[in-house]
Amino acid sequence: MEETEWVPTVDDLRVKLCYICREEERYDSPEEPPRAWTHPCNCTLVAHESCLLQWIIAAQQTPDRAANALKCPQCGAEYELESRNPPILKFLDAWNKGMSRVGRVVTVSIAGVVFIAIGSGLYAVCTSYGAFAMREFIGKDLYDQIMTDDPAKWPWYAFINLPLIPLSLINSRGGFFLNISPLVPLLSGWPYAGPVSDPAQNGFLAR
Ligand SMILES: [Zn+2]
Ligand SMILES: [Zn+2]
Repeated sequence: MEETEWVPTVDDLRVKLCYICREEERYDSPEEPPRAWTHPCNCTLVAHESCLLQWIIAAQQTPDRAANALKCPQCGAEYELESRNPPILKFLDAWNKGMSRVGRVVTVSIAGVVFIAIGSGLYAVCTSYGAFAMREFIGKDLYDQIMTDDPAKWPWYAFINLPLIPLSLINSRGGFFLNISPLVPLLSGWPYAGPVSDPAQNGFLAR
């Protein structure tokens, strides 16, 4: 039989003693559920992988131990982290999660600002289009008397009714200028407030 060189691993030890938590595991009574063991250097120390990682993390967070966090306390060999979840990756992971949470908040607020900006932009467009459509409908003279071109003089309901005009026009699906009927219910609901441009000039409806 050809003899191949057999290299024992930590799993071949009959009795394993974790040098960190001091728990022992015998080969004839394996732990349930099993915990991974690691033999990080060439000396006799073995440990649970999780214990060693916790030990390294704790050492890295303690200023006077941080320099030796990745060294075997017995032989001084440098540990090489090749675990699936080395602490630095855990740290980066946590950092990324934190950052993406911050990023999400930023994204949500940007979306909110954009939404408000688009919404108010749309409102402004609808309102000015409504004013335009109304001026086309009632004529410039009348428009100048009850509305004027200065929105500061508009009655408050103008800011509700005007943006609804283009929406109802779109809703009516007809030609925007030919089918003016959706304006009528809106205008008939328009409260009479008198001309705002020149309160002294009465009787404009009789023209
Ligand atoms: Zn342990
Ligand atoms: Zn060692």
